[in-house]
Amino acid sequence: MHNFMARRKALISGISGQDGSYLLELLLAKDYEVHGIVRRVALEDPEHHLSRIVDRERVQLHPASLESYASLHHVAERVQPEEWYHLAAQSFVSYSFDDESSTLNTNMNGTHYILSALKNSVPSCRFYFAGSSEMFGNADEVPQTESTRFHPRSTYGISKVAGFELTRNYREAYGLHASSGILYNHESPRRGFVFVTRKITSGVARIVAGLQKEVRLGNLDVQRDWGHSREYVEAMWLMLQQPEPDDYVIATGETHSVREFAAMAFACVGLDYRDYVKSDPVLFRPTEVNPLRGDASKARERLGWQPRTGFRQLVREMVEADCRALGVQGWLRDLPVAIPEVDESARLRGAAR
Ligand code: GDP
Repeated sequence: MHNFMARRKALISGISGQDGSYLLELLLAKDYEVHGIVRRVALEDPEHHLSRIVDRERVQLHPASLESYASLHHVAERVQPEEWYHLAAQSFVSYSFDDESSTLNTNMNGTHYILSALKNSVPSCRFYFAGSSEMFGNADEVPQTESTRFHPRSTYGISKVAGFELTRNYREAYGLHASSGILYNHESPRRGFVFVTRKITSGVARIVAGLQKEVRLGNLDVQRDWGHSREYVEAMWLMLQQPEPDDYVIATGETHSVREFAAMAFACVGLDYRDYVKSDPVLFRPTEVNPLRGDASKARERLGWQPRTGFRQLVREMVEADCRALGVQGWLRDLPVAIPEVDESARLRGAAR
């Protein structure tokens, strides 16, 4: 019998990452009992691996590995979650070119193991799969919607298409309440340092602190649709509250180039990015994707979700956090009223290379 007094129980695989930590905070605010799966090494060295989790005593962590069906099945049996958010993945696209089989194995098998464990032990559990705009890759159309054909251009993108199809198949074949979010790039002060946004904002802070002289980037003309992670996890939760499972694009609908991101980030401390940013062809990717811009109309209509943080605020928040961490917040300017004009001739030089 349903106990209306009991707290709802959610489980997050990938709780130690950027999205996992924001989702944890959202679920705790909604009074959920939250469980998380982490690798055993994270429990042995929490300061290093669980630094994003602010409320460590309010979450129950379980050691398990995406590579082991037995470990995932064991956690599903033990916790009996009502909602499972599967965010864990090897998510850095550049690494996936270097180590294709491990990206494929971990991301595809991990998703399959969890779905299969749920089907076998807790079929009533609602499941969220973290899909990605990288699944569209070289998309035929801009903006992309839930019905745009997938054309992934990286092993990471391919592994996400597989996870997406597995999720859909468990929904259709076994009746699981399984939904996928197709999330465009989402950033925050908790983003990993290898991603371009954080590489830039931490670079800005280190430059004003005198710790570094320049930021070396790859292709500055790539465009992305960048939103705020804290808002994107709200969409995940909303998907699992719907009577029927489904797939949703989550995006801002607005694109900016890496160059504009850099121009804006340096403007936040009164500097001109052209004096500090170097574009190094060594850092270019073997294959790039077409402009990724998402159309989140379905999420707006059905979930009532829409992004709130604009591009300038997002960049400013990240620069501010990185400056504070290094004690150089005295350099911060008020939010620039506009994104600085980017130098067109520099853009053309970059494109000609
Ligand atoms: P992704 O969209 O998930 O691959 O997120 P990233 O933040 O890693 O990369 C976003 C875009 O920025 C990609 O198209 C990269 O090619 C481009 N980019 C340009 N310079 C860099 C760089 O130095 N590091 C990273 N990570 N990306 C860069």
